[in-house]
Amino acid sequence: MLLAGGCLYGVRMPEKTLAQRDLEVVWHPCTQMQDHETLPLIAIRRGQGVWLEDYDGKRYIDAISSWWVNLFGHANPRINAAIASQAQELEHVILAGFTHEPVIALSERLVRMTPAGLSRCFYADSGSAAVEIALKMSFHYWQNRGCKSKVQFLSLTNSYHGETLGALSVGDVALYKETYEPLLLKCRTVTSPDCYQREPGATWEEHSVRVFAHMEQMLEQYHESTCAVIVEPLVQCAGHMRMYHPVYLKLLRRACDKYDVHLIADEIAVGFGRTGSMFACEQAGISPDFLCLGKGLTGGYLPLSVCLTTDDVYAAFYADYVALKAFLHSHSFTGNPLSCAAALATLDIFEQDRVIEQNKRLSAHMAHTCKRFKDHPHIGEVRQTGMILALEMVAARTPRAHFAWQERRGLQVYRYGLANGALLRPLGDVVYFMPPYVITPEEIDVLADIAWEGINKATS
Ligand SMILES: *Cc1c(COP(=O)(O)O)cnc(C)c1O
Repeated sequence: MLLAGGCLYGVRMPEKTLAQRDLEVVWHPCTQMQDHETLPLIAIRRGQGVWLEDYDGKRYIDAISSWWVNLFGHANPRINAAIASQAQELEHVILAGFTHEPVIALSERLVRMTPAGLSRCFYADSGSAAVEIALKMSFHYWQNRGCKSKVQFLSLTNSYHGETLGALSVGDVALYKETYEPLLLKCRTVTSPDCYQREPGATWEEHSVRVFAHMEQMLEQYHESTCAVIVEPLVQCAGHMRMYHPVYLKLLRRACDKYDVHLIADEIAVGFGRTGSMFACEQAGISPDFLCLGKGLTGGYLPLSVCLTTDDVYAAFYADYVALKAFLHSHSFTGNPLSCAAALATLDIFEQDRVIEQNKRLSAHMAHTCKRFKDHPHIGEVRQTGMILALEMVAARTPRAHFAWQERRGLQVYRYGLANGALLRPLGDVVYFMPPYVITPEEIDVLADIAWEGINKATS
């Protein structure tokens, strides 16, 4: 056995790199580990704003916010200070029977800022766990109310809600799901309003309205056995950044009311300004029965998620203990004070810097600088919702033909990006930008240039 950088029996051993040490002991998420036989693993020494820096001093623009979590840059001084200060007071305490100021203050603010009617916050530590809570609470609500037949969920094709078994069950990305099918809950899938699929000439709105007919029909047919519909409002992020019009959410809210079915809005990826408004549901003027938040909740600093719900749902669980109606769900780190402090600092930045206003300029700049892709022979669509812009690589434009997935064109863009100073991590053949909000217009231009060259290389 080699000792890292040490002397073994007087023979000087070469020092192992961090990448070598890593590959002996770490198993990475969402990765075929064999890829790292040829794809270098990059060890990051520090982050600053939108920049990540590796141990050779090479810098990368974090164009995907480190998997959609980071909002105000790495090593943000205000969030750093809030966590450091909280750590001096209280790092963690059980949230059953005990409470603390950060979790109370955060809940007050979330209730105030989220769509009307959401009045209770239940915390967890990952997005998937927040989705599990929404599913269990909805099911349990109907049980407590005596509607014993409501035991299933409706979700959209191409949707993604996380990787734990319940969350995976209501998702529809085959790559993540197919293998585990025998383990999953039985769910019904409804056609996604994904506007990439619209007829030539149709607007997003027309397409979203037309596709809603399928949801209406499924609700009519199955409402008696359905607890809830779960959707990602406006953008199906993991499902290749496919987008749709807010009118779909409006129609869905109306139909859920009509058929006595809950609406779960999974804003884990799209919440906190990604779609241009603080929450995507605002653009449809609707309130869901459950709102799941995660990722950007702490500015991308610490694992924290929350499922907000209504007085009506809360009341269905509120009873004498012996009635056995309580929601007895828990996670060890529920409402962790350090995470809550990071979240409070994040919300302060939103207010103090008028971020949603400022982002309008950034998203307009993204649109402007990416105009050039519209005529690219291998870009089938340039689509954007707020601070998310996606470029769909295609083999041919008319009629649209996709590359064989085995060719892994997106991976070529990824490699090109790394070699040239950008962390772009395409979803299949979809290259996208979902940067921290502290990115500058000049940095957006740099990203667009790198994407342009990378796409040219990958498609030639
Ligand atoms: C990332 C994501 C999740 C899962 O969150 P984790 O923190 O990764 O468990 C759920 N839903 C959506 C829409 C997501 O993008």
